[in-house]
Amino acid sequence: VTTAIPAVLDAAQAPLVRLHGLDVVWLQLTGTLCNIACRHCFVSCGPREDRVPMMSRTAALGAIDEAAALGVRELYFTGGEPMMHPDFWEICEHALGRLPLTVLTNGIGFDDDAAARAGRLFTTSRHSFDLRISLDGMSAAENDPVRGRGTFDAVVAGLRRLAAAGVVPAITVVEHAPGMAAADARAAFLAFARSLGLAHPRVKFLPLLRVGREIQRSRGYVADELDGLAAPLDSAVEERLVCATARLVAAGGVYTCPILLDAPEARLGATLTEARRDIRLRWAACRTCVVEGLSCHT
Ligand code: SF4
Ligand code: SF4
Repeated sequence: VTTAIPAVLDAAQAPLVRLHGLDVVWLQLTGTLCNIACRHCFVSCGPREDRVPMMSRTAALGAIDEAAALGVRELYFTGGEPMMHPDFWEICEHALGRLPLTVLTNGIGFDDDAAARAGRLFTTSRHSFDLRISLDGMSAAENDPVRGRGTFDAVVAGLRRLAAAGVVPAITVVEHAPGMAAADARAAFLAFARSLGLAHPRVKFLPLLRVGREIQRSRGYVADELDGLAAPLDSAVEERLVCATARLVAAGGVYTCPILLDAPEARLGATLTEARRDIRLRWAACRTCVVEGLSCHT
């Protein structure tokens, strides 16, 4: 199974996205290492996935300092599962001394100790600390076929521990089956989150990205979906694309966005400074961002 994401448009034909300002920096802290292997994972991560290595502690701290020096406003940590980094908490503390931080995690690592640590960061950090925890259903029957057997119970246990420690994470739900983001489904998910002890829950639904392992679970993009991909972007659409204001730093370099870690042409350089430039939208996955409005804001 190949994981590389090919460019589908030549740079000359592809629409331009100007870098409106480098506001957000993502760190692919653990590369492709994750403690589970979701069937819809667009980065094809898992316990044995080492094709993208972890960032070293030095590289992670250096990228945070570079981001702060460039006037970045916000950091996001992702993986794989970023909590598997051996220096995870130290890197979080370093980040929070400089900038607001959001960590994207599957929540399985929140035992009592980790929940208490997160609680301390939540209440005492100089900058705001936020967690986004992925859960793809309100029951094991809905969630586990996608995320793996036992994951629902493990994540729910983590969410309860966080709630008890005074942390209010956002829950992110990938719309892996039709209708999951309908208004009544959203209301039901909020009620479910409250039932876990989260006083003011936030739920963010994410459109499905048809790259990585999702291609085997369902399908990749089909030709019809890519009609119009080469058309110039409306400025309102362009401005809200992740790649208009963000970049991803990984062990192997800096990329346009967290979606295209496996796209060789999306690598923009070795440092954030080099990656501060306009890009062209050359990939099928860009269709989901442009048409379905994928954004990073909660
Ligand atoms: S979707 Fe997230 S939790 Fe699931 S395998 Fe991928 S990185 Fe890990
Ligand atoms: S996948 Fe989305 S965020 Fe990444 S380059 Fe394409 S439009 Fe931008």
